[in-house]
Amino acid sequence: MAEVGSIALNNEVTIPQLGFGVYQVAPEDTAKAVRGALDAGYRSIDTAAAYQNEAEVGDALSSSGMARSDLFITTKLWNSDQGYDSTLRAFDESLGKLGLDYLDLYLIHWPVPKRGIYVDSWRAMQKLYADGRVRAIGVSNFHLPHLRRLLDETAIVPAVNQIELHPQLPQAELRRFHAENGIVTEAWSPLAQGALLGEGIITALAAKYGKSPAQIVLRWHLELGNVVIPKSVTPSRIAENIDVFDFELAEDDLAAIDELDNGNRVGPDPDTFNLA
Ligand code: NAD
Repeated sequence: MAEVGSIALNNEVTIPQLGFGVYQVAPEDTAKAVRGALDAGYRSIDTAAAYQNEAEVGDALSSSGMARSDLFITTKLWNSDQGYDSTLRAFDESLGKLGLDYLDLYLIHWPVPKRGIYVDSWRAMQKLYADGRVRAIGVSNFHLPHLRRLLDETAIVPAVNQIELHPQLPQAELRRFHAENGIVTEAWSPLAQGALLGEGIITALAAKYGKSPAQIVLRWHLELGNVVIPKSVTPSRIAENIDVFDFELAEDDLAAIDELDNGNRVGPDPDTFNLA
């Protein structure tokens, strides 16, 4: 079975470098997909209150019989729950749905710049962390001004920023800032939701290495040092996406993949995404 490496967060907790994402996995499909992922060797699961499948993730975790300490579970605070008290309430609700008594990583899902209250939410996250209810706290979709504001106004540096990142949107500036500040970069939509798997350079490298296009893209992430959380409900793809620890891409092949950068997003722009 695949051996997934770990990355140290800024508080000595470690996160598996590859996990399983469950965005757009229907509640009725979630338990089966998560059990399939656990069977394939995944130990890190990424969900969110907004995905409306936390309870089904919890069902899969409890029925798996796996030791809690072997798992790394992430969920996220939804935009409408931002604010100090509402963050504390939302955390309790998510934890209850997941059937857990602590969380490994809790993230502010989006900065929601129009409301501008992510500092209040972050203070609540700091309390949850201080109270030992979550092992690490972080953010998602934060751009430089949002990160700088947190760093200026609050005590704890986010352990993670989970952002859209793939070869078409490599996020060099954010990754540099993360590296300078001890923030781990976690890539969402690491496969650009499948959109770049037909690109000529990706299929050529797949042929060269005897791997699938998805495996080539995931390997690019791992070699950049990103944490990745690919999603699939197809058992063969779930297995394929974790089977990426037995090869490495050559420098010039990594550079050839870098050429795919065209700034394309598959998701919303955090500067203007204010849905609540
Ligand atoms: P992804 O890049 O992981 O792509 C998933 C899609 O790619 C699948 O639905 C399938 O169509 C295809 N695919 C997967 N494996 C494949 C394979 N081996 N071969 C061919 N095609 C394959 O996109 P995603 O689901 O949007 O992102 C992954 C995870 O990131 C999510 O499930 C979620 O946990 C997280 N996420 C977070 C945010 C956020 O705002 N924080 C936003 C989107 C996603």
